[in-house]
Amino acid sequence: AEAELRQAQKMRAIGTLAGGIAHDFNNILTAIIGYTQLAMERVNSDVTCRNYLDGVFLAGQRAKELVHQILTFSRQSEQEKKPIEIHLIVKEALKLLRASLPANIEIVQDIPARSGAVLADPTQIHQIVMNLCTNAYHAMEEKGGTLTVSLSEPAAADISPPLPPGDYLQLMVRDTGCGMDTGLLERIFEPYFTTKEAGKGTGLGLAVTHGIVESHSGHIRVVSTTGLGTTFSIYLPLYKQPPMELKEKSEPQEIPGG
Ligand code: ADP
Repeated sequence: AEAELRQAQKMRAIGTLAGGIAHDFNNILTAIIGYTQLAMERVNSDVTCRNYLDGVFLAGQRAKELVHQILTFSRQSEQEKKPIEIHLIVKEALKLLRASLPANIEIVQDIPARSGAVLADPTQIHQIVMNLCTNAYHAMEEKGGTLTVSLSEPAAADISPPLPPGDYLQLMVRDTGCGMDTGLLERIFEPYFTTKEAGKGTGLGLAVTHGIVESHSGHIRVVSTTGLGTTFSIYLPLYKQPPMELKEKSEPQEIPGG
């Protein structure tokens, strides 16, 4: 137990360090990307130079994505939880995705008009949806396919292994992409584990997702078949509103990016 405690302390120290570095890098990258954009506006006639700048810009964007994941990873204790209606966040995330997905990927959404509330950090829930959907997209990138996102109250009998007793909200993200075999499935939540080419994957998406779900007392289940596709299900405990807080109910919901 003492060794475990030391390990946990070490991890926290590394997390704080990484978080600090990531924060500084974020500012540096913002400058690099900003100046690249300014330069791009001035080199219209020089195609080669434009291509170089495109390269800098893209690499900068990828670095920002990586830094963002590391920041989330190291800041999991700094979350701001409040009762939120998850369907608003999922819809917002899907709107963003719709704009960036190619035409060969169809999005099907099954989101009820009201989802019920969950005690959660809206930014982090937004990130879960984006992480899962981005992976789904990558899995279908070559052949195209269907991305299905749904929110529902799950039927307990269908969940394996079963969840601890309680009322949950299920967020499901399903793709008809390449799928995963059991060897791969065992490793997907490891930090820095990726099968994607350098620059495309960070290997942090699912590790971050897992951490966020755990810190919300939720659960993840994955079902995957090689060649057919993958279904990620996230179960978050439904929030029972205490009578005293009823007054706050009418306040506007905060939606990330909205
Ligand atoms: P990254 O996407 O940067 O590789 P993740 O932690 O999000 O990092 O995912 C780790 C690995 O899990 C991916 O590289 C991929 O091999 C596998 N994976 C995740 N989601 C899916 C999916 N929907 N379909 C197939 N493989 C997936």
